[in-house]
Amino acid sequence: MSLDAESFDILLPTLQRFVNERLVPAENHLEEHDEVPADLIEAMKEMGLFGLTVPEEYGGIGLSVSQEVLVNYELGRTAPAFRSVFGTNIGIGSQGILMDGTPEQKATYLPKVASGELIMSFALTEPDAGTDAASLKTRAELDGDHYVLNGTKRFITNAPRAGAFTLMARTGGPGAGGVSSFIVPAGSPGLKLGKNDKKMGQRGTKTCDVILENVRVPAANIIGGVPGQGFKTAMKVLDRGRLNISAVSCGLASRILDESRRYARDRKQFGKAIGEFQLIQAMLADSQAELLAGWSLVKDVAQRFDGKPAHASDPDISMRVSCAKLFATEMVGRVADRGVQIHGGAGYINEYPVERFYRDARLLRLYEGTTQVQQLIIGRELLRQD
Ligand SMILES: Cc1cc2nc3c(=O)[nH]c(=O)nc-3n(C[C@H](O)[C@H](O)[C@H](O)COP(=O)(O)OP(=O)(O)OC[C@H]3O[C@@H](n4cnc5c(N)ncnc54)[C@H](O)[C@@H]3O)c2cc1C
Repeated sequence: MSLDAESFDILLPTLQRFVNERLVPAENHLEEHDEVPADLIEAMKEMGLFGLTVPEEYGGIGLSVSQEVLVNYELGRTAPAFRSVFGTNIGIGSQGILMDGTPEQKATYLPKVASGELIMSFALTEPDAGTDAASLKTRAELDGDHYVLNGTKRFITNAPRAGAFTLMARTGGPGAGGVSSFIVPAGSPGLKLGKNDKKMGQRGTKTCDVILENVRVPAANIIGGVPGQGFKTAMKVLDRGRLNISAVSCGLASRILDESRRYARDRKQFGKAIGEFQLIQAMLADSQAELLAGWSLVKDVAQRFDGKPAHASDPDISMRVSCAKLFATEMVGRVADRGVQIHGGAGYINEYPVERFYRDARLLRLYEGTTQVQQLIIGRELLRQD
């Protein structure tokens, strides 16, 4: 699946213009009001951003993974909250249906996802099950042709905006094999949202608990129709999601580097631009080299991802995805830290974008699997391979 080259060559510059002319100027508003303005959300719908990864037959644009990382790099060059409005739709929220859903599930949900009519979120994490996601406790008990769900999901991105959740719950015994993925409509009786989490950064993104008290969901809402496959679906979804977080990290690093270069040219001390000092140049050079290394890695893994059979899991590619997430998210943390340093005291003041990017970047090495989880995946796979 991919968009033809000619159309993609139009899409990418259009998106770059949208980021530069509409999103970057709205960053201060976002920071102040903690909300993405409604007119920008409408513009995102009109541009088809909610359906970037949904196949054309379901009304989307149908980007390949290699095209998707290029798009995410551009979106990474502004506040992450803008991408977050539709990010769970094209990413972890709906990919489970796309990868493993039945034909009926795809036909029912994907066109609404692509148009932006339906926002979907991904609900795996729980209060006692984060990194150890396979130990999740949310129960789904069969009752006739329905399942009855009870439990709490934590830190769910876009939950306050969601019309439905891809939600993992336990239908069987302990461990990964007892987990199923459900499509749970947000309006289901017994489903409640917690209060919005107050976060360190990424203002304008919305996360909260999703609480399930005797929520009845048709058995037909199990993704793929077969119980016990949900953990595998979740891991496949996260593979693609992690690669996109890596691309966003590279885009954000490039923006921080641009801000830092500009400041280094403008700011004068000791009678000259601070950019003329070699110690400042060294920081810029380290950031540039690390950014290029990270971005090359992301593009390489994306190509391999596109080369594998559609929707199949491949431990070698998962390992490479983890290398990309580990490197790119740690890299943007270092680039953001240097960005603040280059700005001196101004880097600590909210007026300069690097101050908030420093806080925004911190999340990237936590969600969709911490750096430590990526290390575990890489280490485990290296020991398994010949
Ligand atoms: C803003 C935000 C948005 C999020 N959005 C979503 C979402 O949309 N959907 C969703 O399902 N989840 C979401 N999450 C949850 C996120 O994926 C988890 O927070 C993350 O996976 C880590 O889990 P945890 O917070 O429980 O940390 P823990 O698992 O408690 O980890 C704590 C520390 O221990 C380390 N650790 C744990 N196990 C090991 C081990 N075996 N070896 C070495 N170190 C280990 C971790 O790396 C970490 O440093 C979000 C989180 C945040 C903060």
